[in-house]
Amino acid sequence: MKSIISLLLLTALIGTSLSGCLRPVEDTPPVTPDTAEETAPDTTVETEPETAAETDPETAAETDPVTDPVTEPETTVPETEEETEAIAETDPPASETVPPEETEEPDPDAADITVVDGVTYIGGVLIVNKTYSLPETYAPGMNQEAFDALCRMFYDAKVLGYPLKVASSYRSFYDQRYIYNGYVSVNGQAAADRFSARPGHSEHQSGLAFDVDHPDSNALLQSFGDSPVGIWIAENCHKYGFIIRYPQGKEHLTGYMYEPWHVRYLGVELATEVYESGLCLEEFFGITSAYAE
Ligand SMILES: [Zn+2]
Repeated sequence: MKSIISLLLLTALIGTSLSGCLRPVEDTPPVTPDTAEETAPDTTVETEPETAAETDPETAAETDPVTDPVTEPETTVPETEEETEAIAETDPPASETVPPEETEEPDPDAADITVVDGVTYIGGVLIVNKTYSLPETYAPGMNQEAFDALCRMFYDAKVLGYPLKVASSYRSFYDQRYIYNGYVSVNGQAAADRFSARPGHSEHQSGLAFDVDHPDSNALLQSFGDSPVGIWIAENCHKYGFIIRYPQGKEHLTGYMYEPWHVRYLGVELATEVYESGLCLEEFFGITSAYAE
């Protein structure tokens, strides 16, 4: 009973989605890891529990991605490598023992990593996974460029006979904390960590990720990847600037089980490069995805 209540609270909080890029629709969250990550149930927004408001006063505004205030991700352009190196050169260390620490790089072998205001970029591409987190205060809203690209993909898919809906888009740190804690209470932390990100580690907080699904689906399922539209998305989403962020067989690298519904916006050029490489993003950039503890 407690689990059911937790799920209802949880799903009421995130119970927002888009159909055809315009119309909010509710959907349903999974009970087990096999039914996949963070979807919402058939509860209405009006049933949103008081705890949701307490947890995150911005939740109501965030339930409508269309009207989300969107800040330009371009405003957080990372420092260039040249600038970083220039600083190092003009500031010689007093001794040979301690080089200047410019970033919080967990992986010193990965090239071209910069951290700006707590946000990690590789070659200007925002990175968030189990190794690299986003600050609690990082709340850009849904990225408009990514959403526009998603709508183009949805339009072309629909023309081909594949209607789609957005099951989940931008999620704040606080939304994610609420969701993650709900999964932990139901499934335990080890299981939850395979399909739900800890707060600060969700790609949905970047505003650059979407969960897409059949319009009549109530839960995100791995079988989506075997459906005609799932196959079409896997083979074509890079043409719109997206990648399947957590591909099959890459859990040990991405840190998450196969999620054929979760697409991440990278822009057409980089998404195409990653797609043609056959690598997941961690392999492509040579980075890890693992919690520190
Ligand atoms: Zn997702």
